[in-house]
Amino acid sequence: MGLQAFLSRQVVTSQGIRPGAILVEGERILAVAKPGEVPANATCEDFGNAALLPGLVDSHVHINEPGRADWEGFYTATQAAAAGGYTTLVDMPLNCVPATTNVGALEEKRRAALSRCWIDWAAWGGLVPDNRDQIAELARTGVAGFKCFLVHPGIEEFAMVSEPDLREALPIVAKSGLPLLVHAELGGPIEAATARLKDDDWCSYRTYLQSRPDKAERDAIELMLALCREYGFRLHIVHLATGSALEILATARADGLSVSVETCPHYLHIAAESIPDGATQCKCAPPIRDKANRDQLWQGLKDGVIDMVVTDHSPCPPVMKRQQEGDFRNAWGGITSLSMALPVMWTEAKQRGFSLTHLARWMAERPAWLAGCSSQKGCLAAGCDADFVVFDAEAEFTVKRDRLHHRHKISPYLGETLRGRVRRTYMRGRLVFHDGEFVGVPAGRELPRR
Ligand SMILES: [Zn+2]
Repeated sequence: MGLQAFLSRQVVTSQGIRPGAILVEGERILAVAKPGEVPANATCEDFGNAALLPGLVDSHVHINEPGRADWEGFYTATQAAAAGGYTTLVDMPLNCVPATTNVGALEEKRRAALSRCWIDWAAWGGLVPDNRDQIAELARTGVAGFKCFLVHPGIEEFAMVSEPDLREALPIVAKSGLPLLVHAELGGPIEAATARLKDDDWCSYRTYLQSRPDKAERDAIELMLALCREYGFRLHIVHLATGSALEILATARADGLSVSVETCPHYLHIAAESIPDGATQCKCAPPIRDKANRDQLWQGLKDGVIDMVVTDHSPCPPVMKRQQEGDFRNAWGGITSLSMALPVMWTEAKQRGFSLTHLARWMAERPAWLAGCSSQKGCLAAGCDADFVVFDAEAEFTVKRDRLHHRHKISPYLGETLRGRVRRTYMRGRLVFHDGEFVGVPAGRELPRR
């Protein structure tokens, strides 16, 4: 194929939104041109008022394969992602079996992913108490960084780390130069709160919310910031849910600490007050908190204390969500959102006065930076992969099951009317998703090693 030009009145780059054309040769962007500068030999496609956004990058996804492909899998997760405007996923090291805590497990993951991915992907490695000797080798063989838990992760194959474990591992992590992603909740405040609630009604969302207090997050973040000061590694806080930690995070940044922060669409869109009893599709950890907290998280994004918005897409088979009983204590904690994250975010962001440039930064550019692939992914610029999304920002639609392309059609957004529709997704110059249909064959591949 020769030179292609994709035109729009709203091309979203880090410099802003303006009319222009993405010039594509092969798999790469040759240039982002002004409308009058499209070469005469280019094949043109004009999307008019629909925006062209960079392909989104989701640095927090549980694909669950190998080992739990009945929960999700490379094929369905990457389809759900392509339908949501994503062109790159970074897979979490747990819920798959084996967990990605050694090079053998990484190789198994690579075999499971082969010819099954509709978009590109990379893997995080796990940090658990007994795999210090694997860290350097995992870094060498291509993980983007490491993930650990300070609290029990809800499955048996992935152990949480204690402070002494971290003190042994952190010098090695620091030496790798890769980020350490931390699930920042401590067990102590959760156990104390849960003990007080033991006879309460666990079908009530309020009970679940009270069982995972803000303090569990704040104490964990304080511990990690102290360790970050001491060991000088790159710290990344995953799925920040409490606004009460923003101040200590802002102070740490002002002190020059290498710390980045993500939150998720559900914390920014849903509020505890509106979660009905028994609605376990809204259970995740840390929990969705109240309206005032949601406003604080938006302020954190505005101030730049929160860098990025990623999905934490974490599905399970319907029976594990216990929707029949509506039991928040025993339901699996995890929200599925790959197909809907962009419209959910746009619905909320537009109303709060943010632009598509903000979304591109939070959902593409910054996650690509975290995953170490920003020279290739996450922005519309010469030399980057030709990953982009045709997004009709004005369209409204109601979320129905047939728009959810992940394996199990459970979602807190079903029935909701959202703004902004993904019309097409292009990955490395290929059209992969077009108005509800997938085009071609799975051509996604693992990102090259750094
Ligand atoms: Zn997660």
